[in-house]
This record gives sequence, C-alpha cells and structure tokens, in this order.
Amino acid sequence: MKTTRFSKQRELVLKTVQTHLVHPTAQEIYGLTREVDPTISMGTVYRNLNLLAEQGKILRIKVPGGADRYDGTIRPHNHAVCTRCGMVMDYDFNFEALSEQLATSGFKCEELNMTVRGTCKECLSKA
Ligand SMILES: [Zn+2]
Ligand SMILES: [Zn+2]
Repeated sequence: MKTTRFSKQRELVLKTVQTHLVHPTAQEIYGLTREVDPTISMGTVYRNLNLLAEQGKILRIKVPGGADRYDGTIRPHNHAVCTRCGMVMDYDFNFEALSEQLATSGFKCEELNMTVRGTCKECLSKA
C-alpha cells in the first residue's frame, strides 16, 4: 500500500530530525534517511519536512545565505549561528524576565525569535 509506505517515510523523516539535534539541512536529512530506507527520494524528504514544519512537529530555521535547517527541539529556544561553518547551536534566553520588563511599558510579549551570529568554538580554534 502506497499510503503505508508514505506514512512510514514521514515517520522516518521526523525521527531523523528528532534524533539528530545538530539542526541538519534537508540534504543532510536525506543522506541520513537513505541509510535506513534507500527507496526514499529527495522530493519525499522535502515534502515531509514542509509538512512536519507546518504541523509544528519540527522547526524550520532560516539561515541567511545558507540552506534552511531543521530542528527537532520545538520548545521555545534561540539559536546562535556560526558565520564561518554554518553550525547552529541552541541557547536559552530568559523570556519571562524580558516579558515582565516589557509589561511595565504595557507591551505584551508573545514570541521571541533571536538569532545570534558569530563564530563557533571550532572555527575560533582554527583561526
Ligand atoms: Zn564554525
Ligand atoms: Zn534549536
């Protein structure tokens, strides 16, 4: 049954993103899923990544000047992006404290999306 194979491949794409928390690109996810299911196509991977991101099961991270990356961590968190190698790292930010601070000015915070750009540890040590 076609439907069964498709839902299995969707499950595989989701699992791959959730177990590789290094914010892989679609290309990397394709390579990883092919190790498990060699019949999966790039189109299927793309389609499922879009669908899963729309459903809120994974996050899509826009990287300026680079390929989109995917994140299995869906709790609110922020990213630090290395401008040399494209590495994406998670970091937490005290959203509550900021919300309280802005609430004193009558502003209601709903979402925080703060990407820091810089140089990662590995790239710094090579420099
Ligand atoms: Zn780097
Ligand atoms: Zn993340």
